[in-house]
Amino acid sequence: MADRLRAAVLGATGLVGQMFVKLLAEHPRFEVVYLAASERRAGRRYCEAVEWVVSSDPPGVVCDVVVDRVDPERIPRDVDVVFSALPSSVAGEVEVGVARRGFTVVSNASPMRLDEDVPLLVPEINWEHVKLVEVQRRRRGWSGAIYKNPNCSTAILVLSLAPLHRELGVEEVYVTTMQAVSGAGYAGVPSMAILDNIIPFIAKEEEKLGNEPRKILGELRGGRVEPARFKVYATTTRVPVLHGHLESVFLRTVRDAQPEDIIRLWEEWSPLKGRGLRLAPEKPVVYRREVDRPQPRLDRSTGGGMSSVTGRLRRLGERLFAYLVLGHNLVRGAAGNAILIAEMLAAEGML
Ligand code: NAP
Repeated sequence: MADRLRAAVLGATGLVGQMFVKLLAEHPRFEVVYLAASERRAGRRYCEAVEWVVSSDPPGVVCDVVVDRVDPERIPRDVDVVFSALPSSVAGEVEVGVARRGFTVVSNASPMRLDEDVPLLVPEINWEHVKLVEVQRRRRGWSGAIYKNPNCSTAILVLSLAPLHRELGVEEVYVTTMQAVSGAGYAGVPSMAILDNIIPFIAKEEEKLGNEPRKILGELRGGRVEPARFKVYATTTRVPVLHGHLESVFLRTVRDAQPEDIIRLWEEWSPLKGRGLRLAPEKPVVYRREVDRPQPRLDRSTGGGMSSVTGRLRRLGERLFAYLVLGHNLVRGAAGNAILIAEMLAAEGML
């Protein structure tokens, strides 16, 4: 197909990288042309190099792509978009090198997420922040661009907050996460540590939840984002679930509402409807009325893994609510959100 976008994936053998490869191979607008990982995989065919775990088999169309080692200079000139699923420890330097060569990078890694000139995007919520890239190009003197995905728990949480923030105003959020093991990467949590257990700490995660939602729900003014004024107080835990982060939320709003109003705000919110974007779910937030939902195993693939699923909404007092929210950490929390960003960039002629 002539109009397909040529995609590269850096960190293609990791969990997020595998989800990128799967979703891109199924996507009619993208063609995976270049894959890179660490030195130890380099030089082998993708299907031989990867320890594939996100479905039964890697997609046939990528099997013969030879995995390269990660180096900005080695990315072929004709690539249209570079997806990064690199660990934070290497992503910063590599992604800057890639943008300097003029490529568009959509990244999952944490470095630069809070930089003033870097768009941190959930397309349904803050697409206008994409304009920060003009500031980025001017300031950094490159023709490429770096767009960032939020942290996985943040992406899942902010979808549930966005329609409420617009209508009622969010005053403060208290959240406890129950995060799946795949959120820690392929070699992330040893089975001896997590089975029959809950680990009540994830390094740097609470800070991310404290800061990123305020940037995403902030307002673009004069070339910078004025962060939203509410506070997020987070406790983050790792639980023995494969995929899907569940979050228990206590929310104080500025204006009061009844639970049915909130459910309606969630269910009717669909800012990208009708745009013809494959990764945009019909409903970014789906409310389950059963008392024992959402559950990771049953609900993580709602909307193809791109919807946040809310449930158990309770009004505890004036302007005070409790609910649960669940999302797929590898899809909305990572590869799916990044591909949706690229779809939007393509739709707006920015790729
Ligand atoms: P992962 O499973 O550990 O995969 C890391 C990938 O990077 C692998 O392809 C690995 O290649 C490659 N890599 C590791 N060290 C490298 C080095 N020194 N040089 C070049 N390549 C190197 O991690 P992940 O869970 O996919 O996460 C990837 C990124 O996404 C991280 O920044 C993470 O914080 C972020 N993220 C993850 C999630 C999630 O749910 N997992 C969600 C949101 C964001 P080898 O296979 O050759 O080692």
